[in-house]
Amino acid sequence: MATQICPNCKEDNFTWKVDEEESPLTIWDCGSCDYRAFENESDERNCLKCEKKTESKLKDSQKEYWWCSNCNTTELIKNCT
Ligand SMILES: [Zn+2]
Ligand SMILES: [Zn+2]
Repeated sequence: MATQICPNCKEDNFTWKVDEEESPLTIWDCGSCDYRAFENESDERNCLKCEKKTESKLKDSQKEYWWCSNCNTTELIKNCT
């Protein structure tokens, strides 16, 4: 499985797995900084920068944001704290 750039520590060590019980929930885990985020597969949009449908909505314990797996742009949606 190809790794992605972690939006938290910027290491190329970010991988996903599908949570079977809560599908279509995808869990993203970073092997470098232990960062974890959740993706709802139904939330996708075209990236404003690279214009590919590679932007996903990720949510972690503190915030919700758009993240493009192609150009690694992040855009904060809201802080949950
Ligand atoms: Zn990381
Ligand atoms: Zn992009």
